[in-house]
Amino acid sequence: MKRRIYIQMTAIAAIASLATMLLVAFVCYELFCGQILDDLRTDAYLLKEADNLENIFKSDEIVSGRLLRVTWVDGRGAVIFENYADAAGMNNHSGRPEIVQALEEGEGEAVRRSHTVQKNSFYYAVRLEDGSVVRVAKEADSIWSVFAGIFPAMLAILASLLILCMVIARFLIKSLLAPIERIAQNAEDPVEEEAYEELVPFVATIRKQHEDILRNAGIRQEFTANVSHELKTPLTVISGYSELIENGMASGKDIVRFAGEIHRNSNRLLTLIDDVIRLSELDTSEREEEFGMVDLGEIAETCVNMLQVHAEKHGVDLRFEGEGCFVYSEKRMMEELVYNLCDNAIRYNREGGKVRVAVRSEKGRAILCVEDTGIGIGKEHQERIFERFYRVDKSRSKSTGGTGLGLAIVKHIVAKNRAVLALESEQGKGTRITVTFGV
Ligand code: ADP
Repeated sequence: MKRRIYIQMTAIAAIASLATMLLVAFVCYELFCGQILDDLRTDAYLLKEADNLENIFKSDEIVSGRLLRVTWVDGRGAVIFENYADAAGMNNHSGRPEIVQALEEGEGEAVRRSHTVQKNSFYYAVRLEDGSVVRVAKEADSIWSVFAGIFPAMLAILASLLILCMVIARFLIKSLLAPIERIAQNAEDPVEEEAYEELVPFVATIRKQHEDILRNAGIRQEFTANVSHELKTPLTVISGYSELIENGMASGKDIVRFAGEIHRNSNRLLTLIDDVIRLSELDTSEREEEFGMVDLGEIAETCVNMLQVHAEKHGVDLRFEGEGCFVYSEKRMMEELVYNLCDNAIRYNREGGKVRVAVRSEKGRAILCVEDTGIGIGKEHQERIFERFYRVDKSRSKSTGGTGLGLAIVKHIVAKNRAVLALESEQGKGTRITVTFGV
């Protein structure tokens, strides 16, 4: 990258300097040509206004040709005087463009480029009172010979400019990239690296990402430790009872009881593993392709019917109130959401208690409300019950088959559906959890 920026910057500088030089040379040459023609015009008019032209043509200055080339032709183009050659031996000039123009319009100009000599000839002609024409001429280097002349100087300037650009480019690249390189080497703590203003958001993002990574790693580590711990208890029970049976230390009646314990604890393990897998699925997948319009009312009613036996076992009156109400979601998620909330409302209830599951639509928003007259949740626990493995009463949770992950799954599902969750609870009186969709 460094090399690329360096090469590109140097190339741009070289092209820019070369183009500027060429342009300046062309413009200057054009000005120079204009100036020559202007001077010739002045000279031609001075000659025209002179009193005694023949005397002037006899003067040393003119005859020697040191100042100008002067040609005098009559109205038909025959050369009367020429200071660069013998007038008698010269061709008729009536065909020369500047002479033609001067005869017609009173004045004429022309520039002739010589291919053999690297020179350009500039001509200016004016018609005199008597119909003859005076022409003055000058030779100047062509643009190519001007170029050839200044080429070494141009090359030297170009080389110095290039060297200067290379030094500046190197310095700029270094001051641009050095802080970024230091950030890359010190990604864990890029605190010092705020070398220039544009880097500030970059550093802030890296720092935030790094903190997120650390936090996530911490959460994951804690979760792994918790899962291992949760798995350990039922496995110890299973291992203990099966060892007793294996060693023949259990009588016929005990074997049935031990097998029951083994069965109960293996179910516990399966539920726990199911919840852990589900949570990690919800954690990682960003898919929304299974989303569609699902009838939340119908799902809740089915779930309530399914949990009737479970509710009766706990002496709880479980009822559904509400209507069909569509939400954009995934059926499985909605089933899990209603199931987990109802299951908790039954398990953390009291004999003779009630659970009401309601689905309604309010201002175009679907609302699910699960309300119980159970044991309630103390203020100090209300914030934390959605954390993984957080339980208010550990033994009650475990004895009723809880994994400590139900509400964590609920929280994830709510977030995935961009819904809002509200908890109202009073210890000893009951709990109401409301999920509002489409906010
Ligand atoms: P668990 O599997 O232990 O029920 P959850 O994540 O579903 O785990 O719930 C976390 C804790 O929140 C429970 O252990 C319980 O203490 C409390 N809780 C959840 N729902 C209710 C409720 N409806 N009434 C009283 N306490 C509840």
